Amino acid sequence: MDVSEKLLIEPHYGVVIHRDFKPLYADDNYANFYGYHRAEEILSLNSVLELIAEEDHPKAKFVNDEIMSGRQKPGVRTFQNIDKTGKELTVLAIDNITEWEGLPAMQVIIIDLSYQFEMQRSLKLSEERYRVLVDGSIQGILVHKNFNPLFCNQAYAEMFGFENEQALLANESILATISSEYHQIAYRDNQALMTGEEAVIKAESKGVRTDGSIVWLSLLSRPVLWDGEQVIQVTAIDITEQHLLSERLEYRANYDALTNLLTRRALNELLEKECSRALRHANALCCVLIDIDKFKQINDKNGHHIGDEVLKLFASTCEKSLRKGDFIGRWGGDEFVLILPQTELEQAVVIAQRLCSDVTKLSVPISDGVVTFSISLGVASLSSTISNVELLLSEADTALYKAKDRGRGCVASTC
Ligand code: GH3
Ligand code: MG
Repeated sequence: MDVSEKLLIEPHYGVVIHRDFKPLYADDNYANFYGYHRAEEILSLNSVLELIAEEDHPKAKFVNDEIMSGRQKPGVRTFQNIDKTGKELTVLAIDNITEWEGLPAMQVIIIDLSYQFEMQRSLKLSEERYRVLVDGSIQGILVHKNFNPLFCNQAYAEMFGFENEQALLANESILATISSEYHQIAYRDNQALMTGEEAVIKAESKGVRTDGSIVWLSLLSRPVLWDGEQVIQVTAIDITEQHLLSERLEYRANYDALTNLLTRRALNELLEKECSRALRHANALCCVLIDIDKFKQINDKNGHHIGDEVLKLFASTCEKSLRKGDFIGRWGGDEFVLILPQTELEQAVVIAQRLCSDVTKLSVPISDGVVTFSISLGVASLSSTISNVELLLSEADTALYKAKDRGRGCVASTC
């Protein structure tokens, strides 16, 4: 497994809260680091010292006493830990005093460094080793004071398209590497960390590379001392691919792949929203259920691909004729739903009739001519008796049946 695979798959941070090593809280990531499945298993331990290698017990106890008594500030340390099976892990521990049930307790964020340490095993534990680790990390690391960059590693510089660390550090401010809509959040987080209001902030952010392209980042920021000054250290992981994938998935969930109209899921959400808004403000709202007539025959005579062309042509025609604030979506198969907010029934019937007549002028070319088609439309209006989405859709469905019964290619309403 290469480094990137490992970093993508594994959770990076685990959190535990203890008082004199008696566990009070842990998250599942923390439990997983040590080979446990759930946080509850950590809480049933007598002491979290059971997870620390014997030789590090004196150091852990000393550091805990010093910090809890206020003699030392919380900081970052490495520890040898042991998991459930006795395997040694090298972890980075970021401690912080917190409050638990009204009394001070120690909160520790654990970052598993075993893999990186294993790679560096041959080097002595020293400044140089840390430096090599930071430089070799595929995680970007930046140290800044109020956005003035003081240190960064090669990975951080490369994430933003800089040739090397020096090129990034030559800038007075890193604000240009943060997308402007994230500036406000960046200022707020910086302030919270510098004033000690927050000990660690984990966030997603949108970065801008030197060529103007976008990079999505998962960031962990915390205050550290740097040459005796309070500054911020940021660890960054490039999550652009995951972000784009989730954007694409979200788009697919909301927009139909064939027609690019809203999906049934998105329509349902919109209908709920628009209906409750209309009811709240006593506004009119109409819903039109549309079905292509004898669509099965179009498929059977000309092939499924021509049926698809009919669906696409109908969808683009609807979109063009929509007013601002109206919505159209594909309910499924050859059925579509039109949502008309702030529209009275009479007005909705006129809109439906216009669409019905426009469709008769459409045609899809085929090898020996064209395919024409018609639609049937059922119009329903929100009222004191039809006062929710379910009733509105069922009313539109009844109206649609009426239009089909009347011979298709026409508009009907239940009133
Ligand atoms: P009616 O006038 O009563 O609505 O008759 P119809 O033939 O349109 O009604 P029916 O519901 O029986 O047929 C709908 C057809 O739509 C059946 C199905 O094969 C077809 N269909 C559903 N989704 C798609 C699609 O994405 N592409 C194509 N080409 N056909 C589809
Ligand atoms: Mg049909």
